[in-house]
Amino acid sequence: MAPRARRSEFNSRVTIYEPAAAGAVDPASATSPSTTPLKRTRVTRSTASSPAAGSSTAATAKEEDEEDEKKPVKVAKKATTPRKPKPFQEKLDKAHPEPKRWREQYEAIRKQRETIVAPVDTMGCEQGGRDRDEAPTNEKDNRLSILVSLMLSSQTKDPVTHQATMNLRQGLRGGLSLEGLLNATVDEIDALICKVGFHATKAANLAKLAVRLRDLHDGDVPSDLPSLLAINGVGPKMSILYLQAIGINAGIGVDTHVHRISNRLGWHKPATNTPEQTRLNLESWLPKELHPKINLMLVGFGQKICLPVGPRCDLCSLASASPLLCPSAKKVAPRKEKLKKEQSPKIEIEIEGEIKPSVEDTPSAAEMVQAVQKVEVEVKEEEGGSVVVKEEQVLSSVKAEVASPVKHRLGW
Ligand code: SF4
Repeated sequence: MAPRARRSEFNSRVTIYEPAAAGAVDPASATSPSTTPLKRTRVTRSTASSPAAGSSTAATAKEEDEEDEKKPVKVAKKATTPRKPKPFQEKLDKAHPEPKRWREQYEAIRKQRETIVAPVDTMGCEQGGRDRDEAPTNEKDNRLSILVSLMLSSQTKDPVTHQATMNLRQGLRGGLSLEGLLNATVDEIDALICKVGFHATKAANLAKLAVRLRDLHDGDVPSDLPSLLAINGVGPKMSILYLQAIGINAGIGVDTHVHRISNRLGWHKPATNTPEQTRLNLESWLPKELHPKINLMLVGFGQKICLPVGPRCDLCSLASASPLLCPSAKKVAPRKEKLKKEQSPKIEIEIEGEIKPSVEDTPSAAEMVQAVQKVEVEVKEEEGGSVVVKEEQVLSSVKAEVASPVKHRLGW
């Protein structure tokens, strides 16, 4: 029996098929190519559920159209905190071979580092915003300060990080403590750390850190890698450096200096592209007792000698060793400031007025005053074409002339 077809009163593109009498729909007719309905499924279901009632079929179709309209549009969810920690590879399946001359290279750098004071030595994250000689008053707050300092340090120079951590210690109500962070708004934290890179994100992360420590870690910084890695804004480098700072040898904290210098030294074959690859390679062959030391040693070396741009190979003992200890050593031309000094113009000036030595009984005093009445000083400024020499410059030049070994005071 052929079904009866009619247009839907709600949607002109929909054709509704109704059986002439109660019974199943004839499938052959339903699939007729000339009249294939666009929403056949709905019609068939409606018909099957209420085969005799045409008006109820139409009503059901209308309800379903309305339902479709009410369905919420899917929007991508924002990431919620705490974030999923990134997968952390503990070690390589197969160890990287030990570089041939690494011990000589290591020793040469260590010796140079003994004579260098770099920013990391006085303003590193281990200081937690304290002066070097200032002992921490509270161990729990000290642990928090170290972690906060590490979180501020990414993409930021040591002095700026140090100052921002000091600002938090001095500017937060309750100091740099859990309570201090919990009682501050994100904007207040942001204002105190506004000089560091990505300060807005870091301020939000510090506020989340305080809540996380309060809720999950009894108000203290955790001392295991997985818990540290689960904190927003804390990655493998910071986690390892934090653990090293509190005396747990958890690996090598690889930052940009360690990554760059170890590659310049030819320690990776092939060269590594990320700090994580560098960490895994180094940890696989460098003796474990050196893991806590290598970061501080190479960071300071990278801040003063093996600079990111224009490394001072002219000052580096690895470049002057024979045979050469560094495959990346370059011959460097003398620096510009030296040339400048040699070429800088000098002027001879005569001092007007009488110069009286204040130590009357010094036999050579008068002679010395005569000798220094004509002194040479460097030209520092020019105003309207005339040379201006500051009194302090003259004074210091005169003093240099009369200086040691005789201690003498001139009365100006
Ligand atoms: S020789 Fe140059 S490149 Fe090599 S470690 Fe020394 S400063 Fe760096």
